[in-house]
Amino acid sequence: MKRKDKVKAILDELSALYPDAGCSLDFTNALELLVATQLAAQCTDARVNIVTKDLFKKYRTVEDYAGADLQELEQDIRPTGFFRNKAKNIKECCIKLITDFDGKVPDTMEELLTLPGVGRKTANVILSTIYGKPGIIVDTHCSRLAGRIGLTKSKNPNIIEKDLMKIVPKSQWSMFSHYLVFHGRNVCNARKPKCEICTILAYCDYGKKKIK
Ligand code: SF4
Repeated sequence: MKRKDKVKAILDELSALYPDAGCSLDFTNALELLVATQLAAQCTDARVNIVTKDLFKKYRTVEDYAGADLQELEQDIRPTGFFRNKAKNIKECCIKLITDFDGKVPDTMEELLTLPGVGRKTANVILSTIYGKPGIIVDTHCSRLAGRIGLTKSKNPNIIEKDLMKIVPKSQWSMFSHYLVFHGRNVCNARKPKCEICTILAYCDYGKKKIK
C-alpha cells in the first residue's frame, strides 16, 4: 500500500475515533499558548495545564514575563522540569517579542524561529492553532507512530515533518499530527502498544509484524 493511501485510510479511521482531537494545552491567547508549548517540552500537557492555571493569573502580558525575576519565574514553572532553561527562554523570548515584534506573537515560521526556545514544533503549534495555517506538529507521539506505521524511516523530528508533509494532504497537516498524538496516548503507547485492538493495524508495518 502506498504511503499516501495509508495516510488517507488512517485519517478516516482516526478522525472517526477522535472527533475532538486538537491541542490539549489550556490557553486563551497566543502568548499563553507560546508559553505553554515551551513548558510542554519533556513534560505532559496535563502537568503543564496544572502549572499554567496559576501562572497565567500571575503573568498576563509579555511585559510581565520580560520583567520577571528569573528565580521567581523558575519556581513558578518548576514542576514542568528543566525549569531553569525554560524560564530563561520564556523571559528572553518575551523580551524579543517586545523589541522585534511590537509585543505580538508573529505569524510566520521564519519569525517564530528567531525567538529563544522556539523550535519548529512550537512554531507549528502556534501557526496551526492560533493562525489557522497548516503545520505538522512532530512531538514524541507523532514521531513514534509515524515510525511504527512506516511513514518515515527517520528519528529526526525535522526530517519526519518533511516526510509527512509529502504524504499528508496540506489541509490535514495539523489534524493528522493531533490524531497521532491522541492515538499514541490512548492505544499506541511507547512501551506497550495495544496492536490487538488498534483500528489502524491494517496500515501499520510494526503492528502487522507483531501480530503475525
Ligand atoms: S498497530 Fe500497534 S504499533 Fe501500529 S499504530 Fe496500532 S498500536 Fe501502534
